[in-house]
Amino acid sequence: MKVDNWEHYYSVRPVFMGKIIDSHAHIGRHDNRNYSKSDLDIFVKSELPNKDSVEKMIVSNLDVLHGIKDEFEGNKAALETFKDSKSYALLASCNPKDGDISKIEKLFKEYPNDFVGLKFHSDIQQLNLADKRYEPYMKFASDNNLPCLFHSQVNTFQDGKVNPGVRHISDPESIYTLAKKYPKTPVVMAHLGAGWREAHDKATDILVESIKKGDANLYADVSWVDIDDAQTHIVNAIKRLKGIGDKDWTYGDQSCRLMFGTDAPLARFQGNDAIKTYTDFIERIKTSIRNDKDLMPEADKIIDDLFYNNAKKLYLTKKQTPTTEQPPRSKYKALLWALAAAIAVISGITIYKSKHSDSKR
Ligand SMILES: [Zn+2]
Repeated sequence: MKVDNWEHYYSVRPVFMGKIIDSHAHIGRHDNRNYSKSDLDIFVKSELPNKDSVEKMIVSNLDVLHGIKDEFEGNKAALETFKDSKSYALLASCNPKDGDISKIEKLFKEYPNDFVGLKFHSDIQQLNLADKRYEPYMKFASDNNLPCLFHSQVNTFQDGKVNPGVRHISDPESIYTLAKKYPKTPVVMAHLGAGWREAHDKATDILVESIKKGDANLYADVSWVDIDDAQTHIVNAIKRLKGIGDKDWTYGDQSCRLMFGTDAPLARFQGNDAIKTYTDFIERIKTSIRNDKDLMPEADKIIDDLFYNNAKKLYLTKKQTPTTEQPPRSKYKALLWALAAAIAVISGITIYKSKHSDSKR
């Protein structure tokens, strides 16, 4: 069934009205505006016009990214703002350029269960992703099993082609290089490589490359994906993450690596049309998934995963903290080596003793 009009679609086919997790939202100062909880409440407090409901927004404080507030006080302020609402989860914003990992350590020590990951923005801070100041933060994320959300952006020309001459400071390739040093730590490329047209192909290529090589744990969110044609890029990314059309694909369904997000309440998600723009963005994506001949058979599942399950699994499901304990197999191996060493030592002593007594004779 071709879907041309979402209102008509729902009137003829009763479907599960979706729960939504918006995995990318903000409060704080940006572009001479100060965004507060009330700018986000409009999305979560009532049902959207398409009957979807935003169950949770995952928020980070721009004040910390801009260095207006420090990493302890700024993130604590965000926590106090949202502490009484179940509709929000928080990422701890980081400022590797001017901040200090001890502030983040103190934050997680005082509030061990209140932040679901870390947020970075190399553009705002103009800090190259190869800079060693990211390392203590990434190590902290790795030790504590925290997903890290990075602003990502590709340099494109006016026509949407990638500019190969100048790599953007937040280029997905640079994020990938950093992520490879912490291969188990989930690293989310926000905006699927913002820019437009080929920018998203480049980010998707890197996601696919990391899956094939198995050398990083990359994800992406769809906030700011090409405003004119977001749906095409998102459908394309889902298909590639499922290996559709790739005869060498042996990696199963990896579409869990892509999740819904908007960057609300920035830019187009404010003002009188905010709810309409937000709902239209959701519906354009859903409609494209339902209309794609490869995705159509499992469209409802793909939609639930993209808009809800994937973010829930990554950010909101308690993970086991990695331990340094050896797995049973290597324990067994270690035991065998110890036994072999003991036998070697005992037989050495026996030979020595027997030679020694021989020479005495
Ligand atoms: Zn953002």
